[in-house]
Amino acid sequence: MFDLHIHSRFSFDGHDSVGGLCDRALGLGLSGLAITDHIDQVTAPELFPEFTPDKLALTAKNSNAAISKAQKEYDGRLEVLRGTELGQALHNQALSEFLLATYDYDFVLGSIHNLRATEDFYFISYSSSEQAHALLHEYFEELYAIVEWGQFDSLAHLTYPLRYMVGRDKIPVDLALFADCTDAILALLAKKGKALEINCSGLRQELGDTLPGEGFVRRFRELGGERITLGSDAHRVPDLGFGLARGMETARRCGFDSLTIFRRRKAYQVPFGEWTGEAWRTP
Ligand SMILES: [Zn+2]
Ligand SMILES: [Zn+2]
Repeated sequence: MFDLHIHSRFSFDGHDSVGGLCDRALGLGLSGLAITDHIDQVTAPELFPEFTPDKLALTAKNSNAAISKAQKEYDGRLEVLRGTELGQALHNQALSEFLLATYDYDFVLGSIHNLRATEDFYFISYSSSEQAHALLHEYFEELYAIVEWGQFDSLAHLTYPLRYMVGRDKIPVDLALFADCTDAILALLAKKGKALEINCSGLRQELGDTLPGEGFVRRFRELGGERITLGSDAHRVPDLGFGLARGMETARRCGFDSLTIFRRRKAYQVPFGEWTGEAWRTP
């Protein structure tokens, strides 16, 4: 099994070293992992001191250096993939494309954590369904633009805002209101041969479900989707690998027969039966 969504201490919200994460992966009997530290683009860097272009470039440099070191250290024992989670790529398209060209990534997650000139969904407090729906409308429109741009391999946590709107703030949200837009996103992903991520972080958080939930994974399949990646979105060692077995079962129930991993941005399908090992099935 591979965990394809992990943050090290080089992410602004990560805690642990790449070596510590690799040791945990070995302990779980994983075959490999992708270190996917954040590159979060913003439209107004002056409002986000963590995300000025200089700091983002330095983060990418440090993360890549640590990955290179781990690839040597764990060679033959654990496959360490060079990844990144590129947030809001179009908020600074030139820098996004420069960083993608600079590093020889194996795997790139595309995601959105904040709307233009707005803080991360994490920092907003939600008080009504109307407010949440207005934000979700913009969110899915921006996500569609990211898929149109397409310079990523797997679309991360399709329903990210729900982690805070529903999981934390208990605001009812009706995603059926956005079905036209989410269908368009999933259909375009499928058409472009991109993967949809089943992000397992919600299973250990208040939301109690994968991001996205099973309905969207099934819909992706119905619309022609063929590739699923799995990730814990761990920001600390104990969360690595959490929920991967449940994520795989979700994919199976939705009609998939394999999981996808990426090397040098190329997709490799691994049938469920080839995922061996036991330890990773428990957390
Ligand atoms: Zn994310
Ligand atoms: Zn992440």
